Amino acid sequence: MKRLPWIFAAAVPLSAMGIAALLLSGRLSFPRAFAANAAAAPQATEPIPALTPFVDEHTHFDFDEKDPEGAVRAALSALGRENAAMIVFQISPDTFDHPGHYDAEILLAAVKKHPGKLAITGGGGTLNAMIVQSAATGDAGPAVRKKFKERAEELLREGVIGFGEMTAEHFDGATPYQYAPADHPLFLLLADIAAEHNVPIDLHMEAVPQDMPLPAGLKSPPNPPRLHANIAAFERFLSHNPRAKIIWAHLGSDNTGYRTVELDRRLLLEHPNLYMEIKTDPRAPGLNYPMTEDGKIKPEWLKLFNDFPDRFVIGSDQHYPEPKGQDRRWQEAVLLFNQLPAGVRKKIGTENVAALYGSSVAPYLRAAKN
Ligand SMILES: [Zn+2]
Ligand SMILES: [Zn+2]
Repeated sequence: MKRLPWIFAAAVPLSAMGIAALLLSGRLSFPRAFAANAAAAPQATEPIPALTPFVDEHTHFDFDEKDPEGAVRAALSALGRENAAMIVFQISPDTFDHPGHYDAEILLAAVKKHPGKLAITGGGGTLNAMIVQSAATGDAGPAVRKKFKERAEELLREGVIGFGEMTAEHFDGATPYQYAPADHPLFLLLADIAAEHNVPIDLHMEAVPQDMPLPAGLKSPPNPPRLHANIAAFERFLSHNPRAKIIWAHLGSDNTGYRTVELDRRLLLEHPNLYMEIKTDPRAPGLNYPMTEDGKIKPEWLKLFNDFPDRFVIGSDQHYPEPKGQDRRWQEAVLLFNQLPAGVRKKIGTENVAALYGSSVAPYLRAAKN
């Protein structure tokens, strides 16, 4: 999650019928309707589905206690519209101090009713909070480690398919500013647990190659005036257990300017257990955006996807129910996805997700027609 405009908008649950009605009435718009002529009045278009099935492997739900399964219904109804084979919910990285923090249990039972269509990771609201707390107090002793391991294993027993969304550097937004060293002892422990159980870790981390001031445009407080270098620590995390699969979230949503093609390429070359999620938000494109103004993949990013076709997945950060009146993150990701060569699209769409998450999703994805 990020400091993005949707956090200021009321997340009004939309029924499938409501969405259809809005589409028919032309009140929903999609990003490339604006691209041809930004000065022209917005022109509504039908959503453009993926050319071949894909998994949106990083989404969120806006929980409504009056309608606890609303997010599940919204995601299920989106599958066909997007041509998504599956949607994976992640738990926003959060802290114990933040009122209303939650973890996978809040939606797990409802998600588990739809195997092969929906899945959920866990730990964002508890394991991540424990890491942030431990980084602040300096206590990563045996008692803390024991509690952390027990919680991680509890989540897996309950049925989460991976650990996420964790963070090492997260700007203030829907959840507070958070920092922990990417090689914190609890991150290393989590890598060992993830490797043992063959599940991935999803990590949100702004790229900070060296200590630097907070980028212009971000407020301090609530963010700190300076940021800690994190790439070297991230590489120690990656190297700690080569069998732990780490997904670096939000390629395409760079808030520091350092998530470059060159950095991603070097890390992919040097760390075979590193994967990346593609997120493209037309409302907040950030720096190093992989698409041009008119919606074409930039050649240097296309070359990266082609050079490492086994290492990327789509993780749009879409919220369900879809926030009303906003461009869809999933739509922009699909517009990028649709430009990939067929063989690369097949891998990024479903095969890489099957490889990452193994038996909990692979049998279902084999059935998806590419
Ligand atoms: Zn995130
Ligand atoms: Zn997220």
